[in-house]
Amino acid sequence: MRTREFLWQEGHTAHATKEGADNEVMTILGIYKDLIEKHLAIPVLTGKKSESEKFAGALYTTTLEALMPDGKVLQLGTSHNLGQNFSKPFKIKFIGKDEKDHYVWQTSWGVSTRLIGALVMVHGDDKGLVLPPRKTPFQVVIVPIFYKRVGKDLILKKAREVYKKLEKNGITSMLDDREEYTPGWKFNQWEMKGIPLRIEIGPKDIEKKQVIAARRDTMERITVKDEELINIVGEVLKEIQGNLFNQAKKFLEEHITSVQTYDEFKRVLRKKGGFIRGCWCSNQRCEEKIKEETGATIRLIPFKKEELFSGCVYCGDEAKEVVYFARAY
Ligand SMILES: [Zn+2]
Repeated sequence: MRTREFLWQEGHTAHATKEGADNEVMTILGIYKDLIEKHLAIPVLTGKKSESEKFAGALYTTTLEALMPDGKVLQLGTSHNLGQNFSKPFKIKFIGKDEKDHYVWQTSWGVSTRLIGALVMVHGDDKGLVLPPRKTPFQVVIVPIFYKRVGKDLILKKAREVYKKLEKNGITSMLDDREEYTPGWKFNQWEMKGIPLRIEIGPKDIEKKQVIAARRDTMERITVKDEELINIVGEVLKEIQGNLFNQAKKFLEEHITSVQTYDEFKRVLRKKGGFIRGCWCSNQRCEEKIKEETGATIRLIPFKKEELFSGCVYCGDEAKEVVYFARAY
């Protein structure tokens, strides 16, 4: 998803100490992780970038990486500790408690509308978008189904009641009472737009004091009694949010493959994609060779050192750390 223009959010902070900057880097990374995992329902791996993949001006770069359905990885955000690399040339100083001048320690971090691209790719299906209930223009679309044999007034009245009830209980909704489109046409349109839940109200539902709810994620249709409307809709929305995350998480976990040899590395990359977990000697030459020969880069080095299980996946020499490779966008 590349566009001529994109919007982004970026922050810069200045701190008295390296520890202050370290804390800020991790705080922001945590906020981004919450946004991406809890709202967009996209699981991420986090860690540090290697020296050659970090932002050139940074002391170190931390990153959030997500797996797309085609097996390629998308970097969703970064948070850098810039150290004093900018404050020294630009003379950004503060007066410390010792009443002397000190150079500040800086951080910078950002995410962009690329997150929307990830959302489209990770959850979408052949019918169109699938939006998580916590990030959607509205959570429920109500489609009244008119038939000649029962007056549409009754159905519209109930539809409006349902709309009001949902909104009153904090469930964002939209009543699609356009008369120039058939219910079937509306179903397709809102499915394509990915609205998490559709509520259908027809003449039979008036008689039976119920509505029909259709989930966008599983396409499952359930009957909901009027008196249970708020409870069930609330529950189902939570379920959809969880289901989208769990599905993506399962896919991610199934696509983290540990390899011990370079042959295996190339085979997994060719046949399966995803993250390749391998041991690395920390020599930039091996990293470069792998990139040159396969297009895969080190996406991240885990924050918590993982246990070594082989020699360097490229040269076979003694490994220093476990890292995650992938082909990336
Ligand atoms: Zn090596």
